[in-house]
Amino acid sequence: MQSETKICQNCKKDFVIEPDDFSFYEKIKVSPPTFCPKCRLLRRFLHTSETVLYKRKCDFSGKEVFSMYSEDAPFPVYETDIWYSDEWDPGQYGMDYNPARPFLEQFLELQNKIPRMSIVRQGLAVNSPYAHRVTDPKNSYMVFRSSYPENSLYIYNGKKHVLDCCDCSWIYECELCYECVNCANCYNVKFGQESKDSRDCYFIYACRNSSNCVGCVNLVNAEYCIWNKKYTKEEYLKKLKEMKLDTFSGLEKMKVEFERFRKKFPQRAIMSIKSEKVLGNWFLNSKNVTKSFDCENVKDGKYLFMVFNAEDCMDYFEWGNKAEQIYECENCGIDIARLYFCNQCWMGAHDLYYCNTCPGAHDCFGCVGLKKGKYSILNKEYSKEEYKKLKNEIIEQMKKIPYVDNKGLEYRFGENFPANFSDFAYNETIANYYHPLTKEEALDRGYRWMGKGKKNYETTTKASQLPETISEVNDSILSEIIECAEKDNPNSVGAFRITQNELTFYRRMNLPLPRVCFDIRHIRRMDKRPPLKIIKRSCSECSVEVETVYTEEYAPIIYCEKCYQQEVY
Ligand SMILES: [Zn+2]
Ligand SMILES: [Zn+2]
Repeated sequence: MQSETKICQNCKKDFVIEPDDFSFYEKIKVSPPTFCPKCRLLRRFLHTSETVLYKRKCDFSGKEVFSMYSEDAPFPVYETDIWYSDEWDPGQYGMDYNPARPFLEQFLELQNKIPRMSIVRQGLAVNSPYAHRVTDPKNSYMVFRSSYPENSLYIYNGKKHVLDCCDCSWIYECELCYECVNCANCYNVKFGQESKDSRDCYFIYACRNSSNCVGCVNLVNAEYCIWNKKYTKEEYLKKLKEMKLDTFSGLEKMKVEFERFRKKFPQRAIMSIKSEKVLGNWFLNSKNVTKSFDCENVKDGKYLFMVFNAEDCMDYFEWGNKAEQIYECENCGIDIARLYFCNQCWMGAHDLYYCNTCPGAHDCFGCVGLKKGKYSILNKEYSKEEYKKLKNEIIEQMKKIPYVDNKGLEYRFGENFPANFSDFAYNETIANYYHPLTKEEALDRGYRWMGKGKKNYETTTKASQLPETISEVNDSILSEIIECAEKDNPNSVGAFRITQNELTFYRRMNLPLPRVCFDIRHIRRMDKRPPLKIIKRSCSECSVEVETVYTEEYAPIIYCEKCYQQEVY
């Protein structure tokens, strides 16, 4: 087989399908894509809301709930516990397949009728009503995309048991961490990034197996270091005190100085730990994973983003936790296999095509909300033999009769759900972060837009009036509505409150109160990472060409793996 250059249906740019890609498509018996990798990723993003939640009524009980869907969603929305229960039957919405009409058009009709869960959760939520896209959350608040979070607050993408953490993103098995990004197995680390197996540190970048370090970069097995310089324990403690990292202004000063300091050190071209044959960024224990980002324990993958414990997957955004042969899916995980063009299928789901929110289902085609369904098409169950026959007929029909979307794009068998099938407006999805559009641009491209006029909060205090240290804060802060210091920033919600658990955390960690709302803090952490774009640079030491996401501006000094290993390890 040879590689082939094609023109993307959507952006009209060239893209290449490699021989390995063709082998994969052949193995899973799907037609090669007609969208380029970038447009395919954007399409997966478009089906994914993350941190935007609304208060609305549960259409089953009338109770007020938090939901990813606003009141004007076209379908009924049920509180997640009710959705999972036997109190309603998704099979009652079953439709007959009509071979004369495009299949996806029929799917959309079904999708607009079926009740959906208010927020996405697997397993049990213990005292965690405000957690979205989570598995078994316990006593957690404002936690998104996390597996087994406990006593944690304001977390985005916390995987494999995150305990007592606050304001962290992309963390893996961490405890007592604050403002960390891309850290794994860390304990009591504040403002850490790209670090692993470290404890009791402030402001560390790309450190491993270190403790009691402040303002350090690229250190391995270090202790009592400040600005990469070793001190005695006594000197270290004295200096640490002088840095006043328990004060708001001390931390702000440190943030600026640390960013400047970091840039003086070589940046490894690809952030990978115990991984081989990887291209992209942020790999842990992964092998043969290319053009991918944030992969942990992944083997044989391409075009993956935020996936852990997975094998033999392509074009997959988010999750894993035991996943095998997943293609063109988003938000799928936990013991899943052979899912193609699916969104939100989990807990043992296998052998599904074009399914949306079908936990525990197997052998289904074009189903929505079918809990533990089997041998079903458009939510109607068939015998195993009938299912197989009809499934093959539909695949052939989809190859011949495409669904044509509102932009004139053709969707045949082999393409994921069209953008206009998304339950969300463009600015409610993660697409708007990675590919920001103005309202006009979004509408012009056929996307929906959510007018989220800022609420006018009756604030009782201003962020600038908050005390410098936590010791000066008393419990009355819990009843204050604080005006966000960046209230005019379009990402700010305008105001925020401090919850009891949060106050307890800041006291325990000796941290000052934050002065901006969660949304700003979240975006700031997202912005700490370079964009997901692989560029070519040359190693600052040996000049060999490297592929990296780190731009000259982000990392003036870039090292190839060999030079980095020689200097740092
Ligand atoms: Zn494209
Ligand atoms: Zn080099």
